[in-house]
Amino acid sequence: MSFNINDKGYYGDFGGAYIPEMLYPNVEELRQNYLKIMAEPSFKAEFDYLLKDYVGRPSPLYFAKRLSEKYNTKIYLKREDLNHTGAHKVNNTIGQILMAQRLGKTRIIAETGAGQHGVATATVCALMGMECIVYMGEIDIARQAPNVARMKMLGAEVRPALSGSRTLKDATNEAIRDWINNPVDTHYIIGSVVGPHPYPDMVARFQSVVSEEIKWQLKDKEGREKPDYVIACVGGGSNAAGAFYHYLDDTDVKLVAVEAAGKGIYSGESAATSVLGKEGIIHGSKTLLMQTQDGQITEPYSISAGLDYPGVGPMHANLYTTGRAEFISITDDQAMKAGLELSQLEGIIPAIESSHAFAIFENKKFNPEDIVVINLSGRGDKDLQNYIDYFKL
Ligand SMILES: *Cc1c(COP(=O)(O)O)cnc(C)c1O
Repeated sequence: MSFNINDKGYYGDFGGAYIPEMLYPNVEELRQNYLKIMAEPSFKAEFDYLLKDYVGRPSPLYFAKRLSEKYNTKIYLKREDLNHTGAHKVNNTIGQILMAQRLGKTRIIAETGAGQHGVATATVCALMGMECIVYMGEIDIARQAPNVARMKMLGAEVRPALSGSRTLKDATNEAIRDWINNPVDTHYIIGSVVGPHPYPDMVARFQSVVSEEIKWQLKDKEGREKPDYVIACVGGGSNAAGAFYHYLDDTDVKLVAVEAAGKGIYSGESAATSVLGKEGIIHGSKTLLMQTQDGQITEPYSISAGLDYPGVGPMHANLYTTGRAEFISITDDQAMKAGLELSQLEGIIPAIESSHAFAIFENKKFNPEDIVVINLSGRGDKDLQNYIDYFKL
């Protein structure tokens, strides 16, 4: 049994492509070509070159000495926070812009919530001289002004989504509408391992560079490729998918996914999708999502905008239901405290999304000889105001 995708586009019961007929030609074009294109030597060479010289890979695997001493176990941090643009998201946007070029596309669209994926997309569009339109909820545009400014500086057009709750899911709906209307010249860069097949698999493959590097870096440092645990936060699930990818079928490596419990799992203000979610269809794939009795999608909540999504990608829905990964939910308060602790023990200010993963040490015991790798998905510059307000610094 494999925990990776099958040739029908499913992870166990989850995944597939549940899309309106109007979208079928675009998704089908991508599905028929993505593996072929990714296997081309010239594609690989350009992807690897840009990850190295533009993004700054490989990102270090750093032994966190003081954190390890405090929790009496061996903790390594995979430093995705050191990537250009400050998080793992750029691994995916580099891959997808190269894919779009090979497919002959000239116009890029994307959705964004907090603006991190929007910035990563605007960045690669500037790099390649491509037109870039980013859909963003009107509410998010107001609360994420610095990222809106970044996208504009990079030459992207930010279009407000004015319907519904005017947040991420509405921006996604607008992007899908745009794609239907512009099927020939446009590629839609989705920002996580969500959406219709082949997106979850394509994005996971681009992010899999993370675990590919962990394997040889850990071999250098510890004499073995496999850690005892790999831990990552999950919004849609792309940084976790990248960190887990090459260990998915190595069941002696324990995988831990950390979700946002917001103000408490059962508080009504949470994004703990695995616990609260039921099977349903969101943005083109069958997965676990938070919904009402009659199937309306519930508004999620988390202090971290990047984890504030009502679903998880189909890979994670399958990892949860099969028990391959352990899922843990962390509240806002637990995450903030862990972010402050990492800052003051290691001199690294994490994104609040990543802080959720670090809260695990207060909630789970590890053995002194365990090797624990945490994916530090992004840096905290974007969240400084949030931290300062929270701790009244
Ligand atoms: C967007 C983001 C996330 C959540 O997205 P995933 O697809 O679940 O990885 C996590 N961490 C950071 C720093 C982000 O910017």
